[in-house]
Amino acid sequence: LINQVETQVKGLKLYSIVDKSIFLSPVNGRLYTLFIVLSLASILTLIASLLAARPIFLSMVEEQRMRELSQRDMLTGLYNRRALVELFEKEAFRSRRYNRPLSMVMFDIDHFKKFNDTYGHVAGDQVLQTIGTYCLNLSRKHDFWIRYGGEEFIVLLPETDQASVATYAERLRSGIEHLKVETSKGPLSVTISGGYHSFASFDSKTELEHVINTIDKALYEAKNKGRNT
Ligand code: GH3
Ligand code: MG
Ligand code: MG
Repeated sequence: LINQVETQVKGLKLYSIVDKSIFLSPVNGRLYTLFIVLSLASILTLIASLLAARPIFLSMVEEQRMRELSQRDMLTGLYNRRALVELFEKEAFRSRRYNRPLSMVMFDIDHFKKFNDTYGHVAGDQVLQTIGTYCLNLSRKHDFWIRYGGEEFIVLLPETDQASVATYAERLRSGIEHLKVETSKGPLSVTISGGYHSFASFDSKTELEHVINTIDKALYEAKNKGRNT
């Protein structure tokens, strides 16, 4: 191969003669083999890594599922009491940090012991389940429903101020009063009594226990006023 280059000097050209067989020889067959071997090794390493990661990934999914289950009440599917502590902590922090309102409603089914005695525990459980589903359907995406005790429910309402929570609680009371629960003993209904507490913005000093005690006092007042209140 002869290469020709013009130079600065007029009339002078530079020629280079290159041995084509050295510089442009076809790729050595051994390089192809090396390339294929390395590619296969890379693919095998990738497959081995994926296989090794699979149990780790599955155990993470399982852990997440167990965590989710440990926060749920089996009968109603709502959050349980344990989850409330974490949910309240998060929402209280958010309320204080961004200066947003936060409310909580708690209610208790009226004369539920008598209901169980009259219609049986199975019918009682059906009532709890139906109320759980009703409450979930009523709430917005960011409301948190908790089955706090046997027949006591709590809803944590971010972005809800005092005026709104009063309307919401009354809607709950009236909605449940008119709810017909299909049981083996026919359609039955119950009433609830409850109370609420509202923060314009959460103050860092108030403990969850204090909020619940405050609502509990209101709840007992509602019971004393004749229930369904
Ligand atoms: P009050 O109007 O004062 O609230 O009266 P009450 O009878 O509802 O209150 P009390 O706390 O005396 O009774 C609560 C009853 O709730 C007792 C129990 O039989 C019933 N209960 C609690 N958990 C469950 C449950 O998971 N399933 C059923 N079927 N009943 C439950
Ligand atoms: Mg009770
Ligand atoms: Mg009760």
